[in-house]
Amino acid sequence: MDVEHTKIPQATAKRLPLYYRFLNNLHSQGKLRVSSKELSEAVKVDSATIRRDFSYFGALGKKGYGYNVEYLLSFFRKTLDQDETTKVALIGVGNLGTAFLNYNFTKNNNTRIEIAFDASQERIGEEVGGVPVKHIDDLEQYMKEIDVAILTVPASAAQGIADRLVEAGISGVLNFTPARITVPTSVRVHHIDLAIELQALVYFLKHYPLKEEE
Ligand code: ATP
Repeated sequence: MDVEHTKIPQATAKRLPLYYRFLNNLHSQGKLRVSSKELSEAVKVDSATIRRDFSYFGALGKKGYGYNVEYLLSFFRKTLDQDETTKVALIGVGNLGTAFLNYNFTKNNNTRIEIAFDASQERIGEEVGGVPVKHIDDLEQYMKEIDVAILTVPASAAQGIADRLVEAGISGVLNFTPARITVPTSVRVHHIDLAIELQALVYFLKHYPLKEEE
């Protein structure tokens, strides 16, 4: 199968980083193979889904052997572009933004926040988690090599900043503000509203309690 040209469903693609991280750990422990059961328990995805996901890229686990860790890793590296670092900008160095800058996705070595922006004079010129903070007015000057932006500004500022990012040629926005932003169809926006996620979890716990394992 010509793996490189196989179109992977979006739901599968979203799980790839999860698989990748776990397999990388196994690899550094010197493990050569992994069963779908083992994978399933580690990444909390049922093994039927894992088998279906893996079948899209030609990894057909052998019964009693499992999957070859090296093969899977080389596939993921290619697919996830692990060799190329995606440069990220963060806009809004408040509580959430500061936490991201300090975290800076160190476990995921193909994305790095290179630069941050804020409107508050107090923050300008600082480095947070090793990342320089620039004034939002100067955004366009620094956007040349930036592919992705993380938005952690107040909701009221989100659309205006999104418009400027689009104009500057951004490819993707990870929007942590509660505002739904409008962008051209060529720009991908992933929206993460932590308050809603938390509310949803509490709602599910109340209305759909999980059964204990027998
Ligand atoms: P958080 O919501 O992350 O907990 P916070 O409560 O500390 O942050 P917010 O009012 O949400 O503060 O603002 C987040 C950050 O966004 C602040 O550092 C603020 O200075 C910055 N900010 C506000 N408006 C803009 C803007 N138009 N452009 C860039 N940064 C902005």
